[in-house]
Amino acid sequence: MSVLYDTVIVGGGPAGLNAALVLARCRRTVLLCDAGRPRNAASGGLHGFLTRDGVLPLELTHLGREELRRYGVEIHREAAVSAARCGSCFETVLESGGRCRSRTLLLATGVVDRVPPIPGIEEFYGRSVFHCPYCDGWEMRDQPLAALGPGKPAAGLALSLLSWSRDVVLLTHGPARLSQEERERLKRRGVPLREERIARLEGAGGVLGRVAFKNGETLARRGIFFNTGQVQRSQLAAALGCRFTHRGAVRADRMQATGVTGLYVAGDACRDVQFAMVAAAEGARAAVAIHRALQHQERA
Ligand SMILES: Cc1cc2nc3c(=O)[nH]c(=O)nc-3n(C[C@H](O)[C@H](O)[C@H](O)COP(=O)(O)OP(=O)(O)OC[C@H]3O[C@@H](n4cnc5c(N)ncnc54)[C@H](O)[C@@H]3O)c2cc1C
Repeated sequence: MSVLYDTVIVGGGPAGLNAALVLARCRRTVLLCDAGRPRNAASGGLHGFLTRDGVLPLELTHLGREELRRYGVEIHREAAVSAARCGSCFETVLESGGRCRSRTLLLATGVVDRVPPIPGIEEFYGRSVFHCPYCDGWEMRDQPLAALGPGKPAAGLALSLLSWSRDVVLLTHGPARLSQEERERLKRRGVPLREERIARLEGAGGVLGRVAFKNGETLARRGIFFNTGQVQRSQLAAALGCRFTHRGAVRADRMQATGVTGLYVAGDACRDVQFAMVAAAEGARAAVAIHRALQHQERA
């Protein structure tokens, strides 16, 4: 408790790891704590990350931690259970009971996807069931695909999937909640609409074979995409007084500052474009902002 770190980073995904790397290279003292549950843990490979295309998510974490060790970053493999401002610094309490004080605090805690509650879906999540065509559309190219969910967002997702496959069906798992105009647009673009309730997903080894409906019918599909939203993985931002967008992202300025003095946020927790590469870039940007703020204090 006697050590006063320049920065404590909560969350060791791409955002937190990259922030730690840049701060350590600025000769800042950094403690990073990570509960080890990255959003994409279920994924069979991370795509669209230059020089690391296809790497397993936990392998990327491992590589990042190895790089940080060379710079002496203190890494704790545990969750931060609370954090509060105490005078001019922050006090963060770790799961093990350890307490750490820091001049600044960076939250890189990510989000959790709301996976649709359909029997069997977890077995396929990350292998055949995805939320992001930019991340996994290429692997599903020219395959029989489905967009899953009700309303306009799911219809938009179905139309977007046509960039990757001509065989796309919209499964609304209940009333479609679409206007006549939206139904006609789907029809014009050759996207069938199925409103029957889904009983379960079937396949083996994470490879989807077919969708079984409650009425006994089945539909052969290789991949399903959904966009049913997400929630913050951690409550720390709310507890520290951060403000949120209407979509539940932590509000931050262009240098990742939250508006709470000394508190920064990076990665999926605060952004709409949610790629590992973007999260890492935000981590770097937060690190620069933190280093500059500390330099400013030191010059005063
Ligand atoms: C199935 C799937 C596939 C994806 N595929 C791709 C892809 O191919 N390409 C791509 O660019 N993006 C992909 N993504 C998105 C990508 O996972 C995210 O954009 C990226 O992980 C965001 O990084 P982050 O550092 O913000 O958060 P995360 O990677 O989620 O890391 C946050 C970390 O903070 C930790 N944490 C949270 N709260 C606490 C706490 N209180 N104390 C300590 N630690 C805490 C978590 O355990 C986690 O380890 C995919 C996502 C999913 C769900």
